[in-house]
Amino acid sequence: MTELALEQGPQLTGALSRLDEAFSHLDVADDVRARLSQPRLALQVAVPLRMDDGRLQVFTGWRVQFGTLRGPAKGGVRFHPAVCQDEVATLSFWMAIKCAVADLPFGGGKGGVRVDPKGLSRGELERLARSYMRAVADVVGPDRDILAPDVNTNPTLMGWMADEYETIQRRHAPAVITGKPLELGGSPGRIEATGRGALQVLNQWVEREGRNPSDLTVAVQGFGNAGYHFARLAHEAGYRIVAVSDSQGAIHRPEGLDPEPIWRHKHESRERKGLVYCESSASCEADGVEAISNADLLTLDVDVLVLAALEDQIDTDNAADVRADLILEIANGPVTCEAEAILEKAGIPILPDVLANAGGVIVSYYEWIQNRSGDHWDEHTVNQRLADRLTREATAVMDLALQDGVTLRCAAYRHGVGRIAAAQAQRGTCR
Ligand code: GLU
Repeated sequence: MTELALEQGPQLTGALSRLDEAFSHLDVADDVRARLSQPRLALQVAVPLRMDDGRLQVFTGWRVQFGTLRGPAKGGVRFHPAVCQDEVATLSFWMAIKCAVADLPFGGGKGGVRVDPKGLSRGELERLARSYMRAVADVVGPDRDILAPDVNTNPTLMGWMADEYETIQRRHAPAVITGKPLELGGSPGRIEATGRGALQVLNQWVEREGRNPSDLTVAVQGFGNAGYHFARLAHEAGYRIVAVSDSQGAIHRPEGLDPEPIWRHKHESRERKGLVYCESSASCEADGVEAISNADLLTLDVDVLVLAALEDQIDTDNAADVRADLILEIANGPVTCEAEAILEKAGIPILPDVLANAGGVIVSYYEWIQNRSGDHWDEHTVNQRLADRLTREATAVMDLALQDGVTLRCAAYRHGVGRIAAAQAQRGTCR
């Protein structure tokens, strides 16, 4: 008899359905299938925040640990108005798969607060970060569950959370959180790691296809930390970035865009207008830059469509309109399961999130090692180790896909779930 997990939301149900395919090709015990059917812990907390005007506002937050079979839970914390338990649980599941694909000694975790951080002052943000850490401090720790940045969170926030945790514990414990500022034990190379890793996976694919980066056009949805660094490094590597977007709008220039000045403008503009500035800017028009909608960006006729924003951006409504030859997933879960089937029929391959965006958590792992050993690696060492690991795992996934005649996502899931299953078999216990 199959027991249904209590209050399992539609997002997690959809994400877990991707396991069926992996299970049907793996010689795994029913135990593993049963164990991976729901998170081991889902904690909902109140996150009280004293606003600058003296009012007390109480936000809702979560920390979910999907599994800890291969090591402590690991994953980021996002601040976003659409965060809910279903989303955080789904993201923690993807972290478990991703850490296994990258062969990191971690399970999966994720956290979030349902809040719009764009409306908060710096002081409010600091108090929110500290309040969240106080609320989850009992279940996290360097050997239990290790936090990191995600959507709308950054090194400064990680530093405040680390400081709060150490204050509560009354001891030094930098390894409770990664993606910290360098001064507090952050690792060189962590900020660019997600974008750098994604470019490397793309390069590997392009090389195997016998193509040349300078012949390829790229549209990037999402211009946060991961999307920007990907776009910058890809531009340097010779790819033609023809469009970028953020939550405010998108810009398109068929001759190519230089991501760096766009990033600088986005962050220098006091009003934090994002990319929408271009709509009214005469200089943009003179440069041949056209303002388009976010939806239009997704259906541009480009070689590579990079999804670096949020989940569910390509769904059954727009999947048939995608004209790119390849999708690179830098966000987690940007293509729904149903949309993926449409893309597969159309012959559009996807470099899946659990491989393509693993660079971030890989360098988080290196930060965790450095914090625990008191060592310090230089940026060259970090980047080299990232490149070695990602080359090894991406090669294994791409070879498996070719050998078994399955999608890259199926191959990645078989690769990762196989490792989780092996750990469960060796433990022999249920945990
Ligand atoms: N939030 C990132 C992700 O989704 C990084 C997680 C981490 O470094 O632990 O992969």
